[in-house]
Amino acid sequence: MAKKIPKGHPRYLSLSIREKLVHGLKKGIVVPHGLLAHGRGEAFDYLLGERTIDAALNAEKVACSLLLGSKDPVISVNGNVATLCCKEIVELSRVVNAKLEVNLYHRSQKRSRLIGKMLRRNGAIIVLGIQSDPRFFIEGISSDRKFVDEKGLISADTVLLGLEDGDRTEALVNSGKKVISVDLNPLSRTSQASTITIVDNLVRAIPNMINIARNLSNWDKSELLRLVSEFDNKLNLLHSMNIIRNGAGSST
Ligand code: ATP
Ligand code: MG
Repeated sequence: MAKKIPKGHPRYLSLSIREKLVHGLKKGIVVPHGLLAHGRGEAFDYLLGERTIDAALNAEKVACSLLLGSKDPVISVNGNVATLCCKEIVELSRVVNAKLEVNLYHRSQKRSRLIGKMLRRNGAIIVLGIQSDPRFFIEGISSDRKFVDEKGLISADTVLLGLEDGDRTEALVNSGKKVISVDLNPLSRTSQASTITIVDNLVRAIPNMINIARNLSNWDKSELLRLVSEFDNKLNLLHSMNIIRNGAGSST
């Protein structure tokens, strides 16, 4: 179990998230680089006021519309995602009818299996990406992350990424897929390259998306896709950057 942080601590939430990640590291699910990536995210979250800003909520709604309106959506899961919001990611995959695929920057069979197990413990029935097959890969990625599952990412029309490296995001977009990313840094290559960027913390974005997707689930596909076509990602990113620039975020 992760160490308990006193509920009354003024940085309770932030410290609990760190504690979860350190616990994930000890279990072999998170790699040390994942902690560093989280640190970069935390800094941006601080500047955003550690809340879901309007631009993020808007992106979350459009992202849910795209997932529900897609033929073959896939949610890509790595160590930080599994550690921070395993139950929620499984629930979201169920609500939007998306497949779950493990994809790791620092890939190892052991870690993939551990993440697969964790997803299944949290209700996932099928977890893709555990065994890599050199025949199936995304062009333009130099690391082992290029290997994808025959039944998942290779044929997906839409991919949801949490905590992603810019190279893979760009390669997925270049391969013709629509890419939704959750990234607290609106300036990252991932944020800039994605079809829809959600500038929010994963721990807030995924639960928000579960609720939004439930509310949208009986909408017509044409209505959902109209919302997507009206969305301007660059403009939405500008709104996020303005919040940071104007110091409107201030955390406790
Ligand atoms: P890029 O490769 O896209 O240019 P980067 O190299 O700056 O980005 P990476 O380490 O590749 O960063 O990816 C980690 C990204 O995830 C960072 O942009 C960071 O802001 C973001 N991030 C970290 N923790 C979270 C979190 N809990 N929720 C959302 N985003 C996060
Ligand atoms: Mg990177």
